[in-house]
Order: sequence, then C-alpha cells, then structure tokens
Amino acid sequence: MAMQARLAGKRALITGGGAGLGAQMARRFHEEGAEVLVNDLHLETAEAVAKEVGGSALAADVSDSGAVGAMFERIGSEFGRLDVLVNNAGIGVEGNPELTKNFNQRLARQAEEAMSGGPIETHLDFTVELSDEDWLRMLAVHLNGTFFCSREALKLMNPQNSGCIINLGSIMGTAGGAGLAHYCAAKGGILAFTRSLAREVVSRGIRVNALAPGFIETAMTSSLVEARPLIEGATPMGRLGEPDDIAWAAVYLASDEAKFVTGQTLSPNGGYHMSQ
Ligand code: NAP
Repeated sequence: MAMQARLAGKRALITGGGAGLGAQMARRFHEEGAEVLVNDLHLETAEAVAKEVGGSALAADVSDSGAVGAMFERIGSEFGRLDVLVNNAGIGVEGNPELTKNFNQRLARQAEEAMSGGPIETHLDFTVELSDEDWLRMLAVHLNGTFFCSREALKLMNPQNSGCIINLGSIMGTAGGAGLAHYCAAKGGILAFTRSLAREVVSRGIRVNALAPGFIETAMTSSLVEARPLIEGATPMGRLGEPDDIAWAAVYLASDEAKFVTGQTLSPNGGYHMSQ
C-alpha cells in the first residue's frame, strides 16, 4: 500500500529558504506533499528554490519588523492559512572576514601549542574585538527574526487553533563555541524562546520545537578552514553532516508523527554534543 505523504495538505513557510539547510528543507517538504513558501533576503534566491519546488517566493529581511509584517499580511491575504513556520534564516561569522581570518589563525596556532604539550601562548581574544555592529546584527537576524516571524505567524495560527513552529538553534546554543559569543548567545536565546512559546501556545494546539544542528556542510561552514580538522576530531562520527540530516528532522517535527512533541530540541550532530 502506498504511504501517504507525511506533510500532505500542509502549507509551510521556510525563512532563509534560498540556500543551505532551508533550501533542502523546502525540497523535502515538497516531496512530502507540503505547499512551500520560500522566504529569503533576496527575491531571486527565493525564486530559484520556489520554482524548483513549485512553491511561492517571498523576499523579506527577517530582522526588519516592518518587512516581516508585510510578508505575513501577504501570506494572510493571498494564501489564508499557515500550518508550519520554520525560522531558519541566519548568518554566521563570514560577514566579517577579517575578524574570522585572524581568529581562525589563532585557533589553529593555539591547537598546535596544545598538541605539542607546550604552554598556551596564543590567546583567542575574539570577544574583545567584536564590534557593536557585529553583535547587534547577529542578535537581530537570529533572535529578533525568530520573534518577529513567530509573532506574525501566530496571528494566522491562533485563530486556526493549529500550527507548528520550528526554530533553528544550534549545538552552539548549549555547548558554546570559542569565537562565536554573539552567535551562541543568539542561539541560546532561541532555545529558551522555543520552550517559553511552546508552553504558551499549547492550549491552542500549536507545537513549537527547535532543531540544534551540529556542523553541517553549507556556505555557513565553508569558511571553517583551519577549524575543520578540530571539528571533525571532536565529532564521534568524524565528519560534518549533510543538509538532509537536518531537513529530515524538520520533516519529522512538522509532521503529525511528532504530534506529542513540543518544547523540545532535536539535535542531529554526529555525536558532537550528546545532551541538549
Ligand atoms: P546558509 O547556507 O548561509 O543559508 C542561510 C540563508 O538565510 C541564506 O539564503 C541567506 O541569504 C538567508 N538569510 C540571511 N539573513 C537573512 C535575513 N535577515 N532574512 C532572510 N533571509 C536571510 O546557512 P545554513 O547553514 O543553511 O543555516 C541555516 C540555519 O541553520 C541558520 O539559522 C544557522 O544558524 C543554523 N545552523 C547552521 C549550522 C551549519 O553548520 N550550517 C549549524 C547549526 C545551525 P543570503 O545568502 O542571501 O544572505
């Protein structure tokens, strides 16, 4: 007997769906029968994936409350209902190449000093060099974006008394990571936001969960040249994950298979961090 598609009849919005994990989620959601709305910062990027999955493209910067409001107004008037929101849009440290380069070099030197048993004379000194601008942008895209999109999505989901929100955290939100204080703070905030919102909206039949990926092969991790062997060494599976490792986890959380799951953090990470 043919299996029913796991997301049949569901309409899903994936933010930052024009690349990386979000794009792969869009593909798997489509295969599983969902109608996919692809958001991204740039319309062309969103359109390319939307075309691939027979969905619709919506450009908006998730850190801009007004732009998010306008996007959801369009979703409300054009489509009516929304079953799944994936708060996936995000940025890494690649926005500041100079800071990243200096940091990676220091990280590699410090690792060499540790391996050779010598005293540690190279210090990472990342946070003292972090600008207000880098800090605020990181929180704005991840934490504000997750809040703005969730708030607007709930205006559609609350009257439905149904829905599902999936927030992209990271193992960095719990395990921490040197040279990523702003990213870790944003991701830790997202995990706490997830638990709070899950308790609030459970009475409406809305589930809220987080994914906390380990290191996955996307544009975001492509700058991790010096750190890559260290990450692989610290991962029991000895490698980075693939976008599908996260996309399938998102399909599960969005599906009715996860109907008893709320306020949880699911962490496909190759064993890097064994408890969330
Ligand atoms: P990615 O390949 O860089 O893709 C992120 C997408 O989000 C890009 O299309 C990007 O657009 C878009 N975006 C960035 N800022 C945006 C904004 N303000 N509004 C709307 N869209 C925006 O990254 P990824 O690796 O797929 O990461 C996706 C999510 O997973 C992020 O939240 C990330 O923190 C999280 N995560 C990733 C990893 C990993 O190892 N890859 C691990 C843990 C968690 P542009 O490219 O046009 O800027």
